[in-house]
Amino acid sequence: MKNLLTLAFVCLISGAVTAQNTNIMGCAHDMVLRKMAENNPDFQDRCQTQHNDAIRSIKDGDYQRSSVVYQIPVVFHVVWNTPEQNLSDEVLQRQIEILNEDYRRLNPNAVDTRDEFLPVAADIEVEFYLAEVDNWGNPTDGIDRVETEEPYFFFDIFSTEITLDAVKFSDQGGVDAWNPDEFLNIWVCNIYAGEFAQLFGFAYPPEGAENWEGLIDDVPEDVEGVVLHYTVVSDNNPQATDDNFEGNDGGRVLTHEVGHYLGLRHTWGDGFFDGCAVDDGMEDTPNLSVNNAYTCILGDNTCVDDENDLPDMSENYMDYNQDPCVNIFTNDQKDMMRFNLEEFRPELIDGEFVGVNNVSDVPTIEVYPNPASRFVTIAVDQNMLVSFTDLAGRTVETMQLKAGTNQIQLEGFETGVYLIQNNEGLLLDRLVVQ
Ligand SMILES: [Zn+2]
Repeated sequence: MKNLLTLAFVCLISGAVTAQNTNIMGCAHDMVLRKMAENNPDFQDRCQTQHNDAIRSIKDGDYQRSSVVYQIPVVFHVVWNTPEQNLSDEVLQRQIEILNEDYRRLNPNAVDTRDEFLPVAADIEVEFYLAEVDNWGNPTDGIDRVETEEPYFFFDIFSTEITLDAVKFSDQGGVDAWNPDEFLNIWVCNIYAGEFAQLFGFAYPPEGAENWEGLIDDVPEDVEGVVLHYTVVSDNNPQATDDNFEGNDGGRVLTHEVGHYLGLRHTWGDGFFDGCAVDDGMEDTPNLSVNNAYTCILGDNTCVDDENDLPDMSENYMDYNQDPCVNIFTNDQKDMMRFNLEEFRPELIDGEFVGVNNVSDVPTIEVYPNPASRFVTIAVDQNMLVSFTDLAGRTVETMQLKAGTNQIQLEGFETGVYLIQNNEGLLLDRLVVQ
């Protein structure tokens, strides 16, 4: 657990912030990384090497950019103490719309992306929807409301623990996650980070993500997800002004945090040291030495790039900028997020199962061994036609199964993950071939 604080992406600004006087503290994440680098001389190099390896595996490896639109089920856990914190359904539903607009590049301010960045602007082809079946198989609207006796959840920036994770546990005043493999958990609560700071939100990167390897091995599954301060949710939030900051009323803190949740780093390169020597690893986001500091100022060029020198991409969702002034993810960021989703959060995107209306109608299936190499046994309770589809959406095999056990040779299957679906497209299970 001691490493946990190194893993969180925390977006923190001073409580004294006003539109005129932007006094930025930066990420607590960054501060801790710097401390670790001071104590461990090779720490920074190690992190950077791992990050570069991940970039290479995406660029040179098997990863193919596919056109499958992934859909991720979301649950909002609204952990409220005062009625103001108990945000309405309309606010939460609108937040999902904003998230989808940004991840499909349907955001109205996409027209503000500067011309030099249009060639790399990406539709991430990931969508989010409020879960329709809950953790226990019952119908749900994807909104979980829990009254708490805690007036706030404390982010102690001086602790080695992430104290804010208390909101993720019922026995600490919060509420337990729904299965993090199958749901994107978003906790909404009143965050307090001390007299001089206001925290908007934070997220953990996917466990196992190569660009964070070595840093995230200890993330317990039950803390995966996003935490948001209740004031920054959506653009129709009646409590938006409670935090005395006007730049975060557009619902885009979640866009940024989900970027972290899917493995993105800040465009200026995260912790360690500001400067041009540290980058986010994305070739199509220009190198920059410091974040935008929520100024909305365009035109800075804080690092000169070797080739094709471009100004800082201050409109990137992974910079620190005000909501109205961010409008773009890039192609490389798309590859990184989708790679991490496919590799490390695959059950999130086999989502059809979550949307089944009548769970009792789902055919039963058992797949073993799984992972499998030369052959696999599939036991089913009825005759059925099934297809095996890879994560790029290609159907690799279709076959008729008999009720009972079926032995299947895997000669035609390459190493990878395959979705097993019946002829109605219902996801039955996932087969890993190795
Ligand atoms: Zn961040």
